[in-house]
Amino acid sequence: MSITNHSTAPGANVLFEHYCEEPGCEEWGGFGNSPSPSVPTRWWCWAHFPHKTYEQEQALRRKLDAAHPKETVQ
Ligand SMILES: [Zn+2]
Repeated sequence: MSITNHSTAPGANVLFEHYCEEPGCEEWGGFGNSPSPSVPTRWWCWAHFPHKTYEQEQALRRKLDAAHPKETVQ
């Protein structure tokens, strides 16, 4: 294996990194929202993204419940 992740190509290291802005959260901020083009986009992970629809919020909660079934068992 001679392939590395390093590159000397110009701009190769210019990654636009934006992690979730929730304090203490280290998830990748894959979901951005900006109210207008003049306002910098803010980024959150899906769990903290504050602009989900009600249906999306419910779907996430079901998914989280499924991941932790013991918490919902009576
Ligand atoms: Zn987050």
